[in-house]
Amino acid sequence: MSLDDLYREVILDHYRNPRRRGTLDHPDAHADGQNPLCGDEISLDLALDGDRIADVRLQGRGCSISQASASMMAEAVAGKTIAEVEALIHRFKAMMEIEPGDAGIDPSRPGAALGDLEALQGVRRFPVRIKCADLPWATLAQALAEGHREV
Ligand code: ZN
Repeated sequence: MSLDDLYREVILDHYRNPRRRGTLDHPDAHADGQNPLCGDEISLDLALDGDRIADVRLQGRGCSISQASASMMAEAVAGKTIAEVEALIHRFKAMMEIEPGDAGIDPSRPGAALGDLEALQGVRRFPVRIKCADLPWATLAQALAEGHREV
């Protein structure tokens, strides 16, 4: 199996069996995101415990890239501190070449520390789909900004 095939399997698995689906009854932060270019939608609920993301739930619809990215993101950020999540957001955007990467990141495997999320790096070859992959992350940043305001 080639690496591309492996990545495709990971993406389809998250698309078909999305993790952390649903809503929270009393979210500490919430955001909705849309990518009108593709018709992708994400609705994100966060439960915050101090500076830690205690729980994440999301709903959404759209293409496999956007929904798989949302599922992987939800798994990756649950239980992490805001600072860890901000570092993760940066690392993801660097892998997708949305932001410049840090020195010390292996340019041949910029997503090496990202687990399943590394499967999305092939999306870089399709610039119109980068917005699909980034939608859940932009929505997360929006929810965190809102959560901070209310604390
Ligand atoms: Zn899309």
